[in-house]
Amino acid sequence: MASSSYSNSPCAACKFLRRKCMPDCLFAPYFPPEEPQKFVNVHKIFGASNVSKILNEVQPYQREDTVNSLAYEAEARIKDPVYGCVGAISVLQRQVLKLQKELDATNVDLIRYNTCNEMPNSSNHHEGRSKIINDDDDLYYASSSTNWNNNPCDENGYPRGDI
Ligand SMILES: [Zn+2]
Repeated sequence: MASSSYSNSPCAACKFLRRKCMPDCLFAPYFPPEEPQKFVNVHKIFGASNVSKILNEVQPYQREDTVNSLAYEAEARIKDPVYGCVGAISVLQRQVLKLQKELDATNVDLIRYNTCNEMPNSSNHHEGRSKIINDDDDLYYASSSTNWNNNPCDENGYPRGDI
């Protein structure tokens, strides 16, 4: 007897606007009665007629995403009246920049570490080392492209000075 009461409930938008929810209601698929706050937020920030206009401007398959982004923006604007969702975006952008700098610094460390440790057995080849040391100032870079089996770095992984 009470089984049809749920399907007869007006959508959250029509309930809030105190109007009859018609079978072709534009809001009904996206503002179910069990999520009343979603429409309240969107209505407060954008206004029902603007939401209706926006929904009519996009393709039907895009409406759910549209409503979700409007709801996200509205909620963020209510929580943070000054920055809204731009606040969240700039926090994330700062995080990305900070992490990018950390990544760059770590990659530089990694290159330095690999350059100094790519030939761990080179301490047995001292004559080879003197060969490259006598070359010129480019010994640090020359080592990575040669097969001379010597290491321009000392046992601690630091570049060797002149002998
Ligand atoms: Zn409705």
